[in-house]
Amino acid sequence: MSQFDDEEYGFNTRAVRAGQVRTNEQEQSEPLFLTSSFTFENAAQAAARFCGDETGNIYSRFSNPTVRTFEQRLASLEGGDSCVATASGMSAILATCMTVLSAGDHIVSSRGIFGTTTSLFCNILPRFGVETSFVPLTDYQAWEQAITPATRMLFVETPSNPLTEVADIVRLADLAHAHDCLLVVDNCFCTPALQLPLELGADVIIHSATKYLDGQGRCVGGAVIGDRRLVGEEVYGFLRTAGPTMSAFNAWVFIKGLETLSLRMRAHCDNAMALADWLQTHPKVLKVNYPGLPDHPQHTLASRQQRGFGGIVSLEVDGGRAAAWRLIDSTRLLSITANLGDLKSTITHPATTTHGRITEEQRALSGITEGLIRISVGLEDTVDVQSDLERALDAV
Ligand SMILES: *Cc1c(COP(=O)(O)O)cnc(C)c1O
Repeated sequence: MSQFDDEEYGFNTRAVRAGQVRTNEQEQSEPLFLTSSFTFENAAQAAARFCGDETGNIYSRFSNPTVRTFEQRLASLEGGDSCVATASGMSAILATCMTVLSAGDHIVSSRGIFGTTTSLFCNILPRFGVETSFVPLTDYQAWEQAITPATRMLFVETPSNPLTEVADIVRLADLAHAHDCLLVVDNCFCTPALQLPLELGADVIIHSATKYLDGQGRCVGGAVIGDRRLVGEEVYGFLRTAGPTMSAFNAWVFIKGLETLSLRMRAHCDNAMALADWLQTHPKVLKVNYPGLPDHPQHTLASRQQRGFGGIVSLEVDGGRAAAWRLIDSTRLLSITANLGDLKSTITHPATTTHGRITEEQRALSGITEGLIRISVGLEDTVDVQSDLERALDAV
């Protein structure tokens, strides 16, 4: 019995209460059901559960109460009917593709997407007869021209990683629907605290829960959010059979992450804005990419579409890879790691890590230069992050 009616409450209330179902123990915090299977009263009940005559838990690849609480809470925050939790962000993307696409189908995707998503689209899906065309994120004519009669899905990440370009979701949703396609938005960088793609017309939302939803760098997980038929039945059906489901333990960690999501996102935004402002004034920095900067090419769109500019800032230094590596190696506080969305600020060289497995040509087209550095701005005192980078820039 959910004691909670979503419609009545605001975002922050839903973030701490949606999806909670108290057991007879009357626990205040959400329980962790660390069990692989569930027992039945008798053989007849087992048979009724398996053939679907009776609803209820069977096995944690099918359903788990802790995972369900996470799914309901995230669905509520994104404003979706259904959410299906997955083992990772990549398995959320894979599950969506395997559900929506068949051999012969085609995807149009923005170019600046997560490196592993590019690998999935370029190296794995073609073996199953699914081809992808890549277009510049903000060139809407290119999006339209790339659509063929075989196109089923438009895929976009906004803001993009690591260049923080912003796409107009309303416009892409209209384009997708005019051509009988689905618009899939990877909402990893903004989270529902800053952006609600379903409200803007998107059909499916992808999350890597590994990033801001956890927000504390602990677990790998993902989610797909959308309508009841496509996500609640079809994506769920794929997952139940193919298996990349979320563990109950990870779901419990993510539930706790969602409770502080909007506080954390606000602080990430404030800290990133301060850092971007400062970096822009540094003589050794050629360029700073952050949607909050007034001269960012999509600053106006980001102001309208997002409730904050996010925690990711990228910068370009003169001197290519050598200078970028020197800068990274000269930091003492920032963590050198490919992860993002953590409380601890992280620093990454995209060209040789997150975007290292795609071809040089793909990298060049995506604007991932050798001098580019990505910073996921955490929740330390901004002055400390700034001093660390100042020392590192001096070393370049
Ligand atoms: C990390 C990431 C993914 C993949 O998520 P995993 O949890 O690492 O599998 C997908 N999209 C974006 C934007 C990401 O940053």
